[in-house]
Amino acid sequence: MITSKNQFLSKLPDVRTTIFTTVGKLARQHRALDLSQGFPNFDPDPKLLDLVTQAMAGGHNQYAAMQGHYDLREVISNKIEKLHGAKYDPEKEITVTVGATQAIFTAITAFVHQGDEVIVPKPAYDCYEPAIELNGGVPVFLQLEQKDFKIDWDAFRSKITSKTRMVIINTPHNPSGRIFSREDMLQLQESLRNTNIILVSDEVYEHIVFDGQEHQSASRFEDLASRSFVCASFGKTFHVTGWKMGYCAAPSELMHEFRKTHQFNVFSVDHPVQRAMATYLEDEQHYLGLNAFYQQKRDFFLHRLTRSRFKFKPSQGTYFQLLDYSEITLEGDVQLAKRLTIDHGLASIPMSVFNVDQRDDKVLRFCFAKTEDTLERATDILNTL
Ligand code: PMP
Ligand code: GLN
Repeated sequence: MITSKNQFLSKLPDVRTTIFTTVGKLARQHRALDLSQGFPNFDPDPKLLDLVTQAMAGGHNQYAAMQGHYDLREVISNKIEKLHGAKYDPEKEITVTVGATQAIFTAITAFVHQGDEVIVPKPAYDCYEPAIELNGGVPVFLQLEQKDFKIDWDAFRSKITSKTRMVIINTPHNPSGRIFSREDMLQLQESLRNTNIILVSDEVYEHIVFDGQEHQSASRFEDLASRSFVCASFGKTFHVTGWKMGYCAAPSELMHEFRKTHQFNVFSVDHPVQRAMATYLEDEQHYLGLNAFYQQKRDFFLHRLTRSRFKFKPSQGTYFQLLDYSEITLEGDVQLAKRLTIDHGLASIPMSVFNVDQRDDKVLRFCFAKTEDTLERATDILNTL
């Protein structure tokens, strides 16, 4: 029998099953309310479901074009131009992907060579690091402080070396809920100017931004856009995380290289869903209302916690809220997340899994993309702690 001990050398020896899978399983075992993995517990718009059904019944069940269904790429291009004033040629500069995860993985695979360094601010979503390592790259982390998760741009610049090939940012940011300001993006632009560094800008929560702030897409900043893969996810925007569909936009030279990899790791993406998205995305009401929709959920969740013993700053974007439990207990966050799931019936994600060296700041992450009833029951539990 082949075993890892004697027959093969793992390319990812330290990687275990993701926290989202393990906590989700624990939540199901203990029938806990699940505010751990980020997904809505309500249905998408029936209109969108009808459009998929129509596309299937209409016979669009064979391979779509390698780059993505053209009409969808065209609507995406119009949307980016309208929101951010940036022009992307649908033919050469937009590719539809299997969620943002594949866009990010493919961009890394297409550009990161053995020994190349990739700067990743931490805490960070968990899919970047393994993708860098699988490609022989070296992740270079910049740990941000929990008080505000702001990037110290001098510290950022000190991480740039002659080996830096890529930088990965994420705004609005999972798990901190922080968004990059215009000033942040300008600092980033200046830091990368006159280099050959590629930027992967993970913008999957682009339409979940609160308190009247604006999402500052990398596509808005000319010099940044010229070196960026801007990655997006329909899963987040249309409450369909299970459909795993997203896209990325990049200048043609970069996208040409990206597609060399894309065509051999997926070739093309679910055809009927792309057709449905092409129609659905034409109406901007289908995504511009999302800020208010989720802000209301954030406020509902936090309002019910005002008399709890948790400390928090309202999330600026995404559908995640961090809660600091340091005044309740000093136990480790992984331990507490498990105990809450098993003993109190409420699942969350321990923040340390996103930090360098699993630094434990006594914080848990909760997903508030849930019905009011679920949020009510969850806050009832949190208020007893
Ligand atoms: N980036 C971030 C920051 C995320 O939270 C997620 C959510 N899963 C992804 C990328 C992946 O998105 P998708 O499900 O479209 O692959
Ligand atoms: N983005 C989701 C989260 O942060 C997780 C998606 C996944 O399970 N890979 O919760």
